[in-house]
Amino acid sequence: MQVTSDRFSENARRAIADQGLQQALSQAAGRFDVHRTAAFEAFPEGDGLRDLAREIKDRTIGHLDRHLLRLSESIEKAGGEVHWAADAAEARRIIVGLTERYGARRVVKSKSMTTEEIGLNEALEEAGAETVETDLGEYIIQLAGEAPFHIIAPALHKTREEVTELFMEKLGSPRLERREDLMLEARGRLRDIFRRADLGISGVNFAVADTGTVVVVENEGNARLTTSLPRVHVAVMGMEKVIPDLESLAVFLKILARSATGQSMSSYVSLLSGPRGDGEEDGPEAFHLVVLDNGRSRLLADPELREVLNCIRCGACLNVCPVYRRAGGHSYGWVYSGPIGAVINPSLVGRDRAAQLPFASSLCGACRDVCPVRIDLPRMLLAQRRKIVAETRRPGGRSERLALKLFADTMNSETRYRWAGRALYRLSRLFGGRDGWWRPPLLSGWTRLRDFPAPARETFRDRWRKRKG
Ligand code: SF4
Repeated sequence: MQVTSDRFSENARRAIADQGLQQALSQAAGRFDVHRTAAFEAFPEGDGLRDLAREIKDRTIGHLDRHLLRLSESIEKAGGEVHWAADAAEARRIIVGLTERYGARRVVKSKSMTTEEIGLNEALEEAGAETVETDLGEYIIQLAGEAPFHIIAPALHKTREEVTELFMEKLGSPRLERREDLMLEARGRLRDIFRRADLGISGVNFAVADTGTVVVVENEGNARLTTSLPRVHVAVMGMEKVIPDLESLAVFLKILARSATGQSMSSYVSLLSGPRGDGEEDGPEAFHLVVLDNGRSRLLADPELREVLNCIRCGACLNVCPVYRRAGGHSYGWVYSGPIGAVINPSLVGRDRAAQLPFASSLCGACRDVCPVRIDLPRMLLAQRRKIVAETRRPGGRSERLALKLFADTMNSETRYRWAGRALYRLSRLFGGRDGWWRPPLLSGWTRLRDFPAPARETFRDRWRKRKG
């Protein structure tokens, strides 16, 4: 997938001008947030569990090497194979190699942001393996040739009418007006694809080090079919998804669905431990786990950003973010969007290629308030901003630095401060200050949508002096 993160402002302007998209966005993101709030209100122990989840994540990430080794040993003991991928290219090579090893020509996939991150579908198609997404939202955006719009709702931006047209164009379906009929159409087609698939690829919500259990959480049942019907199951996970034990899993399961969709529990939670054993009726003949780094070690080594590896990809921070709710997922230019995308994309794709993202935030703190693992996203947005300013030559960086230096010099000298106050008043008369509002051309980007009160006719000091006589 092409990274276009550095065109955020351009992309966002287009998204804001799209009335249909704005309506879909505010309804869907708002709905998720209302459900999340209600779910936690009805769950008094939720707050305490969020603290506990945070503690478990901090402890695990602090000893990530140890937990990953333990996970690898447990999986091998259960008959699975573990592969380590340093970057996206290596992960693609490993997975394409597995399709060749097993002669797999037909691949089904369940929803996985990590496979989106590595651009897996394109690599599989290039290698000649027919690859079909089986989560309904992912299926829709695969047909449309688009990237996910939201971490948990990839086709959130598509209206029912758009999906009707898409199915007619790409699948040759009749005009289906009802949502139920569209779902049945997709299900009918996917059932047949499941039956013929040689290899299934899934993401991983959690991987339990002690038991070698890979946990997949979903609402449609497609992940369960993906991981059990084909001969081979390949699970792909970012290396931060490991957790120590099943007790920890119980904590995360109680807060993940509530934060994501407002459900007390997702419809399907699959705990998968290696390939089918002797005497077992279900499950794949072979199981492989691909563990991806792709920039995560860099985050781990950075004390300012390490905390972001605690993320459990619930999407709650997107739903409350005033910027995401206007700009939408595609404006971020890569698979991860919203506040979490604005923090991790610069580290995963390079700060020079995603330099605008950490600045696309009002720093209101809503994302920190809803995060189930209490990640301090605003603090890390500021850290990324500092790093970007220090490391890259952003357009506008020099003028910004000059403006801030002028401001600091003015504030540090009484004479300059007094002079600046008077100059400001004179300027305000030039730029429409008479009606009480200021509209200088240099600040038109700001004043187009906001009121800027004109400076007072007299400075405070002058008024004070007059009063004193
Ligand atoms: S940062 Fe927190 S709220 Fe956002 S997706 Fe990750 S876990 Fe969810």
